[in-house]
Amino acid sequence: MTNIINGKEISASVKERIRLETEKLFNETGVKPGLAVIIVGDDPASRIYVNNKKKACSDIGFNSWEYALPAETTEAELLELINKLNNDNSVHGILCQLPLPKHLDEKTVIDAIDPKKDVDAFHPVNVGKIMIGDYDFLPCTPAGVMELIHSTGVSVSGKKCVVVGRSNIVGKPMAMLLLHESGTVTICHSRTKDLAAECREADILVVATGVAKMVNGDMVKEGAVVIDVGMDRDENGKLCGDVDFDSVAPKASFITPVPGGVGPMTIAMLMSNTLTACKIAICK
Ligand code: NAP
Repeated sequence: MTNIINGKEISASVKERIRLETEKLFNETGVKPGLAVIIVGDDPASRIYVNNKKKACSDIGFNSWEYALPAETTEAELLELINKLNNDNSVHGILCQLPLPKHLDEKTVIDAIDPKKDVDAFHPVNVGKIMIGDYDFLPCTPAGVMELIHSTGVSVSGKKCVVVGRSNIVGKPMAMLLLHESGTVTICHSRTKDLAAECREADILVVATGVAKMVNGDMVKEGAVVIDVGMDRDENGKLCGDVDFDSVAPKASFITPVPGGVGPMTIAMLMSNTLTACKIAICK
């Protein structure tokens, strides 16, 4: 029988746990976690993501500040703002919404964020810490995927895990987290010779390519756990994932829907990282 993993419900319970912890922290210390969100330009998708993040902060009881900068902001101006936020003790997390306008170098901007406030876990220091398994923050989307896998009760240890996609923000850290839980991990990408054969080996299959419905039922092993990170549009403009849900669901033991699977978890994990950053700052 196929079980649909309800990311909305799991995300709501993670956020409720964070809300209660935040309340307790405030009662004990008088400190509220604070997240500063920077958005440069007027990309409509980025605007939706930023609004969702601000709403989550307010629901949970965090302080949040939005810095909406015009598209023509210079790198020096952006770096000056980041420097100011790095030195502001009420700000525990700094997030610069990507993608940035083309004239701004994402790497330079990410490198400028204090690693202790890098709640996206994109800074090279945090990436390195994840690699050696000694980290404070996990990148939000892969961390959310791990929560979803844990919710199934299926142990990763000893399982054949296949990750399709090798981006720095999803595929690579995803593979690392599965490895930390003793999965046997294969990473596939656009040059993989026989993608279908690799996917058919997977007990746990995580797909993050940005190619609508590219993994179909013929590419999935009977009983696999299938996690679809994709957020794509189908031929009718309707939101869909990288997995063809209709043909894959009958074969999977567990599968995430799109929407309502991985998406809601990403923000919950961002909130979790911000709370962690705040606790670390208090203990300093
Ligand atoms: P990305 O940076 O574009 O990376 C895509 C990866 O997929 C690349 O490694 C690419 O291989 C691989 N790929 C592309 N076409 C392929 C094919 N035909 N066969 C095998 N591999 C292929 O994308 P991303 O940032 O990782 O995001 C992936 C998807 O996840 C997107 O739909 C994005 O919107 C979604 N996403 C969702 C969330 C969420 O919160 N739900 C968060 C982040 C991303 P090469 O490296 O060889 O080019």
